[in-house]
Amino acid sequence: MARRDRLSEYRTKRDAATSPEPVGRHRGGHSGDARFVVQRHDASSLHFDFRLAVDGVLASWSVPKGPSLDPRDKRLAIRTEDHPLEYADFEGTIPHGEYGGGTVIVWDTGTYRLGEGRSGARDLDEGKLTFELHGEKLTGGFTLVRTDYGGKQEQWLLMKRDDEAADRRRKPARTQLHSVLSDRTNEELE
Ligand code: MN
Repeated sequence: MARRDRLSEYRTKRDAATSPEPVGRHRGGHSGDARFVVQRHDASSLHFDFRLAVDGVLASWSVPKGPSLDPRDKRLAIRTEDHPLEYADFEGTIPHGEYGGGTVIVWDTGTYRLGEGRSGARDLDEGKLTFELHGEKLTGGFTLVRTDYGGKQEQWLLMKRDDEAADRRRKPARTQLHSVLSDRTNEELE
């Protein structure tokens, strides 16, 4: 059975000849824990790209303020195009003038797990994902909820669940600026 190419929008927006970003090949599904990554992207406006591996691609959201560990915070998360799995390891400089031009670091990564019996693809369609993150900066339960379906881009909210990993004081998006892969900051990458 033919399946929709979930990376066509990703490829359309990029020129593989000038951008160092991966081109992307579709890969099969997975079971159990899956990869997550949060990239700090210092583009025309600074944001964090939050990505969960679902069905062989990285489902992606742009989070202007970045994830919070404080359960009282509701962080706007704008759904963006699916990215190839290998993008999870991408750090580098996208040339000025290209789509997303600026520096990208892997701000956090690790694995995530959906609730028992949940399907990431179905939860994406239905507009609510609850999951546990096992990263270096981010751990514990989070929820992503779609709040606006209309328009060109879906708006979601990213929220920390109130569990033992919740932390109302630590502000990692503001105070922990180094890559978990290379220990560099966006500025050091330039
Ligand atoms: Mn981005």
